[in-house]
Amino acid sequence: MRIFDRITDSGHEQIVFCQDAAANYRSILAIHSTRLGPAIGGTRFFRYASEDDALQDALRLSRAMTYKNALAGLRVGGGKAVILAPAGDFDREALFRAHGRFVDRLGGRFFTGEDVGTTTDDMEFVALETKWVGGRKGREGGDPSPWTALGLYCAIEAVSEASFGSRDLRGRRVAIQGLGNVGGVLAERLFETGAKLIVADVDPARVQRAVDAWGAEAAAPDRIHAVEADIFAPCAMGGILNDETIGEIRSRAVAGAANNQLLEDRHGLALADRGILYAPDYVVNAGGVMTAGVGRYGWSMEELERRVRGIFETVLEVVRVAEREGIPTCQAADRLAETRMAPADSTGK
Ligand code: NAD
Repeated sequence: MRIFDRITDSGHEQIVFCQDAAANYRSILAIHSTRLGPAIGGTRFFRYASEDDALQDALRLSRAMTYKNALAGLRVGGGKAVILAPAGDFDREALFRAHGRFVDRLGGRFFTGEDVGTTTDDMEFVALETKWVGGRKGREGGDPSPWTALGLYCAIEAVSEASFGSRDLRGRRVAIQGLGNVGGVLAERLFETGAKLIVADVDPARVQRAVDAWGAEAAAPDRIHAVEADIFAPCAMGGILNDETIGEIRSRAVAGAANNQLLEDRHGLALADRGILYAPDYVVNAGGVMTAGVGRYGWSMEELERRVRGIFETVLEVVRVAEREGIPTCQAADRLAETRMAPADSTGK
């Protein structure tokens, strides 16, 4: 593996490989950019098939955070931590405290919070060792997931507006992959609006709850992308938009919370070629990271909600740029983010 080649291509500033054998802790902290401010990004805890996969995940996720944060109007950079889940038993407090110590050593260059596989409880352990952590219970906007779900809901309204001429979701069929912290809240909100739900999860209990509580139809986790729907919302893991799935999608639009939904950048073009509107993941799922504005800029909860609801307008702006420039929406989002990263820009407060 030629690490310097890879981090040069992706434009990363710093990658830190961390180990605390006593705590069974190994992680990669990837700082993509601190140009606008400290690198902000969550901590993912996952059992990777290989170290290379873990590094790849850290590099892609941290780069996306730079773009997401810029488009979210936060004057911060982008980073991400991935913890390689240990095989066998481990002490969760010891492991996350070890993580906190490594985050602390970066002296504020990296500010973290929860992500896939981690919880607000884990962040409480991290916080015993460092102040550079958010997403804590009852503070700084608290659990980011409901805010991510609200932003996603607004993004779904936006793709509905762009695809069907109305943001009204009553009667729209939305296929949700993954009923976790984000997908579960989204499903409930859509149900309350009057949308029709088709759902899939690898956890059958979560599917059953959606069927019982919200009248959802159940689909197989590996076929949910292919069901007849208006909008497909991937809310599980990345890479779901790929050579196998794109040809099978029967929705007019894709808007979901999962990070890195496009397996490769070229898949953004493949979706556009099929006339499927793709709302770029990092635009859609920025609601969670916006909670950082509460601690950082003193935003009130009302201001936070206003900003999260602004994702509706940002998605439409991305669609307009894509149409005007004749480029896929994923490229349009990058262009918009790069404009906001320009040194003269001073949005944020
Ligand atoms: P989660 O772990 O709470 O939920 C994920 C759900 O997906 C679980 O119910 C899991 O059983 C299910 N799942 C896993 N593999 C699946 C598969 N192959 N098919 C169907 N279901 C599957 O995670 P979350 O917090 O809800 O986040 C969902 C996605 O959104 C992740 O990709 C995450 O990175 C992204 N995201 C989350 C936030 C946030 O605030 N939580 C913010 C930004 C992005």
